[in-house]
Amino acid sequence: MSDNKITTRFAPSPTGFIHVGNIRTALYAWLWARKNNGAFILRIEDTDKEREVAGSIEHIMKSLRWLGLDWDFGPEKDGPNAPYIQSQRLDIYKKYAEILVKKGFAYADPYTEEEIEKFRQKADSEKKPFLYREHRPENPPTWDGTKPLRFKVSELKKTVWNDIVWGGLSAGPEALDDFILIKGDGYPTYNFAHIVDDIEMGVTHVVRGQEFISSTPKFLSVYEALGVKPPFFVTTPPIMGATGTKKLSKRDGAKDILDYEKEGYLPEAMLNYLAFLGFNPGGEKEVYTREELIKAFDLGKIQRSGAKWSDDKLDWMNKEHMKLLPKEEVEKNILEYLPDSMKNKKLVPIIFERISKWCDVKEMIERGELDFFYKVPDIDKTKLVYKNISQEKIISNIKLAIETLEKVAEEKFDKENIKTALMAVAEKLESRGEVLHPVRFALSGLDRSPDPFIIAEILGKNETLSRLQKVV
Ligand code: GLU
Repeated sequence: MSDNKITTRFAPSPTGFIHVGNIRTALYAWLWARKNNGAFILRIEDTDKEREVAGSIEHIMKSLRWLGLDWDFGPEKDGPNAPYIQSQRLDIYKKYAEILVKKGFAYADPYTEEEIEKFRQKADSEKKPFLYREHRPENPPTWDGTKPLRFKVSELKKTVWNDIVWGGLSAGPEALDDFILIKGDGYPTYNFAHIVDDIEMGVTHVVRGQEFISSTPKFLSVYEALGVKPPFFVTTPPIMGATGTKKLSKRDGAKDILDYEKEGYLPEAMLNYLAFLGFNPGGEKEVYTREELIKAFDLGKIQRSGAKWSDDKLDWMNKEHMKLLPKEEVEKNILEYLPDSMKNKKLVPIIFERISKWCDVKEMIERGELDFFYKVPDIDKTKLVYKNISQEKIISNIKLAIETLEKVAEEKFDKENIKTALMAVAEKLESRGEVLHPVRFALSGLDRSPDPFIIAEILGKNETLSRLQKVV
């Protein structure tokens, strides 16, 4: 790409599902591209065939699609630099490798693994770091593709560079060593392939995790050898596990992003939550739509310190985004989870109040929290109490409730009228709970349930009175 368009990329290796930590990197890269009307590339880095897991590429694409992180170029979206799968680009890496050989920046590595191991042991015994560059062959063989091709560090110097998040960074000459560009099997290493691709694809901003900082001096020496200006580096902070001491990783329970889809989280909420793990636009506002995020996003506001993953916070965020949904959509989603015998629209607001993601509806059903709407609950009489009020008094209060509710006409038996009727009784008592609590308990059999007015409306006049009478 020759225009100077802001171009970012997400470059996962297909080694399994992408977890939430990886996807946040993709999100930042995507936000930056979208904010600048730039391009976002999806590139599959599959040069380590041993680590590849079948089906990963499809899984990665599905994850990005769920979140709406659309790519302008990549698999299934050909562009000027197709293919976007590294294993299909071997001739391009070879071309760049040949340039480096020609310029004297690369040499065929003649050593066997055993020989290299001996060098390593020798360095160990001398208590020195092992460096390939100290074993450069004087007359390396011609590179014919059967031996690894190594980069030749030409100048041992201090490397200084700038990172948009970290500011000025530097490393001493010890960070530089000869490293493999193309392996004996013909595949390039990550260290080489990603540089070639970032150059070819016109990537302007490389957004990635901290684990790549230590190799950046090597990357820079390749850019220099090729005579190409490096892109901007944007190093994202780690996401810490819930305990805050360890980086969130697959081993420590970082989940597949698509698990959140299955659990009924909203992609908008996940985007918002992930964006704020390591970025803050400033101010109090925390709930952002996709468009607001694009507008507010700024690479300069990415934080350096790791943010802690919190399921509770994610649930809170999800609920906030649920509240932004049109009523009909909430209704549709909740009704979908209800078995046919329970599909009652009146239950929707009650359920909605108590969930933070769609699958919570399933759990409410499993816990039996909605059963009382469909079958008369068993009432544990010992629980028919309120503060220190005697049971006789409670029973007489329920009787008052029955009397007043009997007067509400059946066709007017809705929560507003029920409330007016019951409140008239409640206001005369020392505290409203003396009647509202026992009525609610008598209707639901639960300590904690929706308010008695809506329960009564849903049950209907007959069933409400029958339940109250039964308790009396
Ligand atoms: N393939 C690398 C990884 O999955 C990408 C790193 C980068 O973004 O340069 O970690």
